[in-house]
Amino acid sequence: MPDDEPVPVPQNVPLAARRDLAVRAALAEGLVSDAEPVVGLLDVAGIRESAAALRAAFDEVVAPGTPVLHSFAVKAAALVPVLRLLAAEGLGAEVASPGELELARAADVPPERTVLDSPAKTAAELRGALALGITVNADNPGELARIDGLVGSAPTRSVIGVRINPQVGGGSIGAMSTATATSKFGVTLQDEGARDWLVRAYADRPWLTALHTHTGSQGVPLPLMAAGVRAAYELAEEINAAAGRRQVTTLDIGGGLPVNFDSDEVTPAFQDYARLLRAEIPGLFDGRYALVTEFGRSLLAKNGLVLARVEYAKSAGGRPIAVTHAGVQVAVRTVFTPESWPLRVAAYDAQGRPKTGPRVAQDVAGPCCFAGDLVARARELPPLAAGDHVALLDTGAYYFSNPFSYNSLPRPAVHGFTTDATGVRFATVRTAQTLPEIVQESGGAHSASLTALT
Ligand SMILES: *Cc1c(COP(=O)(O)O)cnc(C)c1O
Repeated sequence: MPDDEPVPVPQNVPLAARRDLAVRAALAEGLVSDAEPVVGLLDVAGIRESAAALRAAFDEVVAPGTPVLHSFAVKAAALVPVLRLLAAEGLGAEVASPGELELARAADVPPERTVLDSPAKTAAELRGALALGITVNADNPGELARIDGLVGSAPTRSVIGVRINPQVGGGSIGAMSTATATSKFGVTLQDEGARDWLVRAYADRPWLTALHTHTGSQGVPLPLMAAGVRAAYELAEEINAAAGRRQVTTLDIGGGLPVNFDSDEVTPAFQDYARLLRAEIPGLFDGRYALVTEFGRSLLAKNGLVLARVEYAKSAGGRPIAVTHAGVQVAVRTVFTPESWPLRVAAYDAQGRPKTGPRVAQDVAGPCCFAGDLVARARELPPLAAGDHVALLDTGAYYFSNPFSYNSLPRPAVHGFTTDATGVRFATVRTAQTLPEIVQESGGAHSASLTALT
């Protein structure tokens, strides 16, 4: 289909300048209004650039002809048009629930480019996945036993693997660290007897041809990520040696490249990680293994922002406070664990021009009815006034897809944009949730059900 062809990206306008242009145009077009005082914006060219950087980073390190599937972690941006855009850029999808699988299917991601990874797959989910032929990574021995039964009863085209927990340790954010000694994910590698169990599990199951690890997300340093991948690689070599043949043919190295939330610099880059892996584990890329990656945050974060109107400016105890429409409903992690998820805030005036002038420490508050609903505390910004706007930067991953319905606030609209010499063009990614939809998801259809219960 013509609309799925990769299009050349104009390289001349940098990300930050495109962002300013998009904010200006979004306000000029009335995308921010009383009815929709907060919206999400996604930089389409930026997403294409990120996908291209990922492809190029691995193309540079793998032996020619090595199959590489970059599957995008859907939870980072669970939006069908985004999945479709990434598919057009040659990516697949990593899904972890029936809903995420349905989104990938709605975006026409083919089954052979879809990877199912969740830790709590039901029997029905597994049966459906194997029938579709999507890749399935078993999380634990109980799940593997379930798959035994399914594989025995119906043929499948699925690539099937086991997720291991290399137990190499955690990063700076506990909740994002999946390779600690006691993490809930995967089959442990270093517990007593675990390694032998894994080698036997593969020897007993000739159809088990993949091995999966994901060492963690934001906060896990690159050397630790590489150590996790090395552990998976070495186990694959051991399994193949024990089997006396190349049984494991696919290594899924997970995602987790951290994002720099302090500036517009993309660091670390995909290239840094790919080169580190090549230096640390040369055999990984020599063509004997098909590779799967599962990046999420690093593909989308820097390509999105939340734009919100400042409704009021006030002060309390000498502290200026900008009361905006961007709070916990769009920035859950930032509001509840601000020390782990700080965000940059950009200040714009009513027309969307970047605000200048001496900076003053102020709180940037959200609209929700609890005192902790702040997206920035004592942040040095040009003084914000009613009618100005704030942009929460680097929010393209995990912010639009993880809303919090506190105070029955709607999920905001998300618009994609492109910029060129003629201006900025917008396309709808998702419309804002409407008031009738909020009533409906809140039991509106069952209004009298409790009073009628006798
Ligand atoms: C969340 C997740 C990813 C993506 O992690 P990022 O930090 O967004 O790159 C990849 N694989 C698995 C199994 C995950 O749970």
